[in-house]
Amino acid sequence: MKVVIFSAEAHDRAFLPRANADDAHELTFLDARLDNSTAVLASGYDAVCAFVCDELSEEVLVQLHRQGIRLVALRCAGFNNVDLQTASRLGITVARVPAYSPHAVAEHTFALLLMLTRKLHRAHNRVREGNFELEGLLGFNLHEKVLGIVGTGAIGNVVARIGTGFGCKVIACDPAPNDECRAMGVRYVDWSTLCREVDILTLHCPLTADTKHLLSAREIAAMKQAVTIINTSRGAVLDTRAVIDGLKSGKIGALGLDVYEEEDGLFFHDLSEQVIQDDMFARLITFPNVVITGHQGFFTQEALAAIAETTIANLSSFADTGHAVHAL
Ligand code: NAD
Repeated sequence: MKVVIFSAEAHDRAFLPRANADDAHELTFLDARLDNSTAVLASGYDAVCAFVCDELSEEVLVQLHRQGIRLVALRCAGFNNVDLQTASRLGITVARVPAYSPHAVAEHTFALLLMLTRKLHRAHNRVREGNFELEGLLGFNLHEKVLGIVGTGAIGNVVARIGTGFGCKVIACDPAPNDECRAMGVRYVDWSTLCREVDILTLHCPLTADTKHLLSAREIAAMKQAVTIINTSRGAVLDTRAVIDGLKSGKIGALGLDVYEEEDGLFFHDLSEQVIQDDMFARLITFPNVVITGHQGFFTQEALAAIAETTIANLSSFADTGHAVHAL
């Protein structure tokens, strides 16, 4: 198939051709993000390959359909950026990479958590400046802490395993509890109980209409003082304004984010020479107890190789049978 790849980065240009080893598909890489103004670039192709930052709204899908696109192959797990109803109405198949390396995101969750609990971001800067004072670097053990996991699917399951290894008391909420988690001793509770009991909360559910701003002012108010919150799922699962208030009041003791609700146009770009226009984000990065990474949880060699292989498998199965292996 002739495939146009939007929002292509250097790693896409390296890993996708490797997975397409027998040149089964003709791949064209574009820097452009897919949106209403760039959808025209898909003209002459059979399939579009898109990422989390690409826009697959009704308007964009209608344009793609008009140009003959029959498949949208997402090279990511989340699909909250796709209007699935419109895609289905137009007969466009949407495929994704449901699980590539849950370990990549789960390990990144703990990278953020340990950075915050041991104040490594501050310690690193101090040591580089020859300051070896410990004042202000007092941390806390993960051992015996109540770790609350929201969503125990592929990633949450690995987080539960790692948390258990640290000796955390792991609790979770999920409308579809996971037997593997139960077997390792995870206790399932409802959302409000989880909020009340956690020392550390980590989010691993998808962003849907039900989970948008799942964590908001009411839930934060019910939490223990100085709770630690980690979000590597999707930005809008938490209400950033409410979280900022929680940080200002000290209710939230530490915050680690790999995602941000307004990350489009911000993450995945070098804006180091520019003034950040997003005041909410600018406020977030002023807190000494906040660590933010720019959606890099998935960004390991193993995960990128798996993403590329599954994306090519989706393209190949669609070309051969009219059905993508991991169609939504
Ligand atoms: P998954 O589908 O395997 O698991 C999601 C789990 O969340 C499921 O068990 C589901 O039942 C549960 N869930 C749904 N609604 C819920 C709710 N209201 N409360 C509690 N649980 C709920 O997905 P996954 O592969 O584990 O990924 C989880 C999320 O992580 C993805 O949806 C994506 O948004 C995000 N993600 C982020 C990165 C990154 O780089 N930061 C990479 C991959 C995925």
